[in-house]
Amino acid sequence: MANQWQGVLREWADVLDVTDASTVVTLGEGGTPLIESRALSSMTDARVLVKFEGLNPTGSFKDRGMTVAVSRAIERGAKAIACASTGNTSAAAAAYAAAAGIQAIVLVPEGRISMGKLAQSVVHGARIVQIRGNFDDCLDISKELAEQYPVHLVNSVNDDRIEGQKTAALEIIDVLGDAPDMHIMPVGNAGNITSYWRGFSQAETAGTATRRPRMIGFQAAGAAPIVRGEIVRDPDTVATAIRIGNPASWQQALAARDESGGYIGAIDDAGILRAQRLLASSTGVFVEPASAISVAGLLERHAAGEIPAGSTVTLTVTGHGLKDAAWGLRLEDGSDATPESADADTAQVAQMLGLA
Ligand SMILES: *Cc1c(COP(=O)(O)O)cnc(C)c1O
Repeated sequence: MANQWQGVLREWADVLDVTDASTVVTLGEGGTPLIESRALSSMTDARVLVKFEGLNPTGSFKDRGMTVAVSRAIERGAKAIACASTGNTSAAAAAYAAAAGIQAIVLVPEGRISMGKLAQSVVHGARIVQIRGNFDDCLDISKELAEQYPVHLVNSVNDDRIEGQKTAALEIIDVLGDAPDMHIMPVGNAGNITSYWRGFSQAETAGTATRRPRMIGFQAAGAAPIVRGEIVRDPDTVATAIRIGNPASWQQALAARDESGGYIGAIDDAGILRAQRLLASSTGVFVEPASAISVAGLLERHAAGEIPAGSTVTLTVTGHGLKDAAWGLRLEDGSDATPESADADTAQVAQMLGLA
């Protein structure tokens, strides 16, 4: 195993404080590729690179934080972990709990998570409760469970998760040799933008980067409390992973924006789905709708004249498209994509393809 990537706790041991190596719970998360997108670069006159976090073990960046949170929980003797989730946190919690041999309890808003994500929690053996309420209700209940019963909370308010997630920013610096000029990412509960800002800031202080990027965040238009400056009571968007009306790390997101001279904006659902298709068809990277907002955001900033020519722009695409593959089969006009049929006849197929 010497040459295999060892997961973020071991690979980034110098910046994460690992107290006891014997309790590390890992599935080899992190070390995801930073992919240069020629198509997006030429559309924006910039150098655009995509950090594909869908390639983590459970298909989202949540694994980076979960390895730290679950390892700590084990260190403290926990027999169960609990979280509220829009889907990806529960998938990660379920997988890492399974790896650790403890119980995961996940609370999800009823009818509001993708089937792919729910399937992950089920197959990993989590106890799943669909709450008739929104994400915030799930969060309140999981906090109360942790206060009143012997379970360890692994929600995004858990600082171990913020710590683990900062390693993605460090990997970007590692590959580029310095921080990018600008970093663009989705914002839901705002834990991840908090993590990246912490990672970029610590790298500058440590001298592994000479600068920090402008931090650019995007929320879905139907779930944009930070942009609107007020809690959204009934957030609504196809981007379920960022359907959050009252972000847990709201203040930290504002700090990342303001300290970096950044920006937080909103994109409507049609723009999100167009960007999902564009990234998949132009760059070969299939992401879930919440992740595609980074691409939509890049185009929005370019249209606003806010991307200086020649600058280096990194985008985090947070989760894999296969989580909710149904979006891939829906065409822009709302109809379903049905492949054409042909007889088992080469000449007919060639003609249909315009080859003959
Ligand atoms: C969790 C998640 C987000 C939002 O991250 P926050 O830390 O809540 O801002 C975005 N995209 C995907 C795929 C996620 O799983």
